[in-house]
Amino acid sequence: MSRHQITRMRHDTRRRTLTLAAIEALGEHMRRLVFTAPELHDFVSAAADDHIKLFFASDSGETVMRDFTPRRFDTAQGTLTIDFALHEAGPATQWARKAQIGDTLDIGGPRGSAVVPDDFDWYLLIGDESALPAIGRRVEELRAGVPVITLGVVNGAADEQHFAARAAWTGHWVHRAGTGADDASLLLDALAKLTLPGGEGFVWIAAETGVAKALRAHVQDTLGHPREWIKASGYWTRGLADASDKSLDG
Ligand SMILES: Cc1cc2nc3c(=O)[nH]c(=O)nc-3n(C[C@H](O)[C@H](O)[C@H](O)COP(=O)(O)OP(=O)(O)OC[C@H]3O[C@@H](n4cnc5c(N)ncnc54)[C@H](O)[C@@H]3O)c2cc1C
Repeated sequence: MSRHQITRMRHDTRRRTLTLAAIEALGEHMRRLVFTAPELHDFVSAAADDHIKLFFASDSGETVMRDFTPRRFDTAQGTLTIDFALHEAGPATQWARKAQIGDTLDIGGPRGSAVVPDDFDWYLLIGDESALPAIGRRVEELRAGVPVITLGVVNGAADEQHFAARAAWTGHWVHRAGTGADDASLLLDALAKLTLPGGEGFVWIAAETGVAKALRAHVQDTLGHPREWIKASGYWTRGLADASDKSLDG
C-alpha cells in the first residue's frame, strides 16, 4: 500500500449519558471536564480529530447539539475527557462554565473517523482554542521522534498548553492580545516566519471558518503544499450559532 493513505471508518452511533467526575482549569479560557460512564466500555474514537455530538437544552427548552473532540478516553476505566473553550455565549460554553461534579451530559458518536496515517515525515497543526483538543490529542498520539510543529492562538501566556509528546514537538504560540478570534493575521504572520522540515508533511488546520480558509490558502497557494496533504476545517463561524463548516474541501 502506498504511503499517506487516509483510512475512513464508520462506527455504530450510540447515545450515552455521562456523569461529570472531575473539573480542571486549562488556563483562563478553557475548562477540562472528565466524565465517567459504564457505557464508555465500548466507546470508539480512531482519529485525533474525531468529533462527538453533545446535547444541551437551549434557553427556549429545545435540545441542541454541538460538536466536540474526544480529547482522551479510557474504555477500561470508563472515562472520557472533553476540553471546552469558554467564549462569550452559547449553550455549550454556558453549560461548561456552570458544570459541577455529578452533572450529567448526553453524547452521541463519533459516527466515523478519518485516520491520517502516522507515516508522514512531519506534521504541522494550526488552530485556536477550539482546535487545541484535537491538536493535543494528535501530538500525544504521534510516533516517537517524528517532528510535529504546532501553531496555536490563545488569549495570553496563561492559556498556552503543554502536551505529553513522544514526538519531537515544537509548540509556537501567538497571543490574541485583544484582537478578535476571527482575525487571521496573527496566525498568518506566525506561519510566514516558520521554517518547515524537509520531506513530506501533513498540515492540519482548524479555527474560525474565515481564519481556517485564509490559512489553507496560504499553505496551499503560497507555500505550495500538496492539497491532499492538507486538512482544513471551520470549527465555528463568527456570529453564527452551531455553524461549524467542518472540512472546507467538501
Ligand atoms: C469537529 C469539531 C470539533 C470541535 N471540538 C471542540 C472542542 O473539543 N472544544 C471546543 O471548545 N470546541 C470545539 N469545537 C467548536 C465548537 O463546536 C463550537 O465552538 C460551538 O459553536 C460551541 O457551541 P456554543 O454553544 O458554545 O456556541 P454557539 O451557540 O454555537 O455560538 C454562539 C456564539 O459564539 C460564537 N462562538 C462559537 N464558538 C466560539 C469560539 N470557540 N470562540 C469564540 N466564539 C465562538 C459563535 O460565533 C456565536 O456567535 C469543535 C467543532 C468541530 C466542528
